[in-house]
Order: sequence, then structure tokens, then C-alpha cells
Amino acid sequence: MYSTLLADATFHNLLLTYDRDLADNAREAGCACGGVLHSAKYPRKPRPWLAWLRAEHHSRFSFCCAVDGCRSRATPPSLRFLGRKVFLATIVVVVSIMQHGMSEPRMRRLVQSVNVDRRTIARWRTWWREVFTTSPFWRSTRAAFMPPLDEDRLPTALIERFAGSAAERMIALLRFLAPITGGQVRAQ
Ligand SMILES: [Zn+2]
Repeated sequence: MYSTLLADATFHNLLLTYDRDLADNAREAGCACGGVLHSAKYPRKPRPWLAWLRAEHHSRFSFCCAVDGCRSRATPPSLRFLGRKVFLATIVVVVSIMQHGMSEPRMRRLVQSVNVDRRTIARWRTWWREVFTTSPFWRSTRAAFMPPLDEDRLPTALIERFAGSAAERMIALLRFLAPITGGQVRAQ
């Protein structure tokens, strides 16, 4: 049921609205040095499944400090992009949910339909199991889930804890993950 979200323009527009708000907040907060932030968007390579979305969906909001000698880059949290991953967060979550316990023929169809290769899907599985579960973010938030989540079933076990329609659950999950998607990087 979550896979229909991938082709849902309203859903993607809603994510973009959330990202704009998060970006506005980050910009107003300014740089840690006190400097003003200028827009310095990260272009994302258009992917076949992203091509039908308007151009503004193809870049990630990011800012660069205007102060000479600082030039820090601030990348606000996002509901569309997970960290440095170039794929949409929704794709990462949907495919990670779908591949769990999937038979070989269905797996082949999934790989074809989303145009993501198997190695990438395997990397995402490793990310949920090894990177996400050992992150300081998850260590400090997992206690809030009672009974405890089965970490071998992430992200399925997580999205099941949110209520509402598929879109509402997905957005709740993406908002939950938002704190780990941004960051401030000092320029060299
Ligand atoms: Zn600065």
C-alpha cells in the first residue's frame, strides 16, 4: 500500500512543503558563527522515477554561510532526502519495507519497477540494521516505543507504530527520521 505513494504528486508536494518550512527555520536561525546563510542547493541527479516531478523536487535545500573565513554549509533536516543518499527517502523506506521476506520473482519485479539495483537495496538493508540501529539518535529514541521494536524488521516495525493512512504513516515516519537527515558541515 505504501508503494502507491511513489507516484502520488500530492504526497511529494506535501513533503516539499515540509522541507521548505524546515529550510526557512534553518535560514532564520543563521550560521553558528552569527553569519547570514545564503541558499546553496544541492542538485540531485534526476532519476527515472523522479523525472515526472517538477524541477524544484530535484534539489535539496542547503545553505552556505556568507562570512568570509567561515563558509560553513548548513543542510536543514528533510523529509525528502536521507542524509547524503541521493534517493528519495520515501523510496528507501518503501523498498526496504517491500523487500522484507520477498520471494525471488517478486524481488525481480520490484527492482525493475523502481529502477534501483539489488546492491543498492542490500545497502539500504545494511543501513537500517547496522548504521541506523547503532546511531545515537536511535539509541536515545527507541526507549519511547513500548513494547520494544523488533530491530530486524526496520523500517516496517517503526512505521507500524504510527497511525492513519499510508501517507500519514509515511509522513510521521519521515518526520521522526528528520533529525538525522541534516547537518552543519564546516568548509575546509
Ligand atoms: Zn558562519
